[in-house]
Amino acid sequence: MPETRVLRVNPTEPEKEVIAEAAAVIRSGGLVAFPTETVYGLGADALNEAAVRRIFEVKGRPPDNPLIVHIADRDSVYLLASEVPPAAEELISRFWPGPLTLVLKRTELVPAVTCGGLETVAVRMPAHPVALELIRESGVPIAAPSANLSGSPSPTTAEHVLRDLGGKIEVVLDGGPTEIGVESTVIDLTVEPPELLRPGGLPLEEVERVLGSVRVPESARGLAAFTGRPRSPGMKYRHYAPRCRLIVVEGDPEPVRRKVAELVLDLRAQGMRVGVLALDGADYPGAEVVDLGPRSDLKKVARSLFTAIRKLDERGVDVILAEGVEESGLGLAIMNRLRKASGGEFIRA
Ligand code: AMP
Ligand code: MG
Repeated sequence: MPETRVLRVNPTEPEKEVIAEAAAVIRSGGLVAFPTETVYGLGADALNEAAVRRIFEVKGRPPDNPLIVHIADRDSVYLLASEVPPAAEELISRFWPGPLTLVLKRTELVPAVTCGGLETVAVRMPAHPVALELIRESGVPIAAPSANLSGSPSPTTAEHVLRDLGGKIEVVLDGGPTEIGVESTVIDLTVEPPELLRPGGLPLEEVERVLGSVRVPESARGLAAFTGRPRSPGMKYRHYAPRCRLIVVEGDPEPVRRKVAELVLDLRAQGMRVGVLALDGADYPGAEVVDLGPRSDLKKVARSLFTAIRKLDERGVDVILAEGVEESGLGLAIMNRLRKASGGEFIRA
């Protein structure tokens, strides 16, 4: 495999010749990483089994963890899904293009490998000119999980993609940092009531305004490993994790701050280098601090989350302490990512 070509692309008005070059790679069964409004995706022709298999291979992704299929117009959902209930149509008309993925019954057109062997397909229309133009020019739906190694923090820049997948894929379209910074919200519409499989860039409250109540399993809050027969196999695996340990400290801002300060001292006394994912500009002497932003601006916190985790990991800290946020709005997605990155180490202050 030759080295990965990095093609710079204008994120708002993608250059036609750049898109054409990347689309040719998709059509010939190759892999192209591209920006979406959530994170960078690792794309292949969703209808080409061999191409899709390579996605699993290069990411080291377990074959039973299905991919999201990306489309460039709302009507393409009818090619991929055999049933599109009225609730789905309502969500589609309100939120596509955007960070909302719908799980529906799949048609014969979609290969089983793309869906991890399930009878359902996850579909979304991304709100990013580069992603949309790439899908249109390729002329096929594009299967794209996040463009990172399985288990590591999701990529929000082309540099992150190269660090994980450089030399293993044909092309990275570099359209700068992504806007939302966490993945899409995934809703399963094949069950009644509908179920939140993964909180993400579209707040659950917005979805509930359309659907009424949505079931939120503990796994969607990052609280429990999924047991029983997984409908979203992604739930089984540790995700978003740095190499170092990560501990989430949850609760009200003041007690959280005191607890984190106390832990910084304890861990340093044990000879460890400590990093902190801080909120509201909190300072922790003796620790490497990255401020994610104010609690009142969770968009900013979500946008900086994965970059900050990678940064602290690269600085070589032994442990990262993360201040928790409230689980409303984008806070649900942020807490899901932090708890999963911690592998179960979350404590209440
Ligand atoms: P990623 O591709 O890394 O953004 O992850 C996609 C998420 O969507 C994972 O949690 C998958 O398990 C989930 N997913 C994709 N397809 C399906 C499906 N057919 N049924 C349930 N969950 C799905
Ligand atoms: Mg992922």
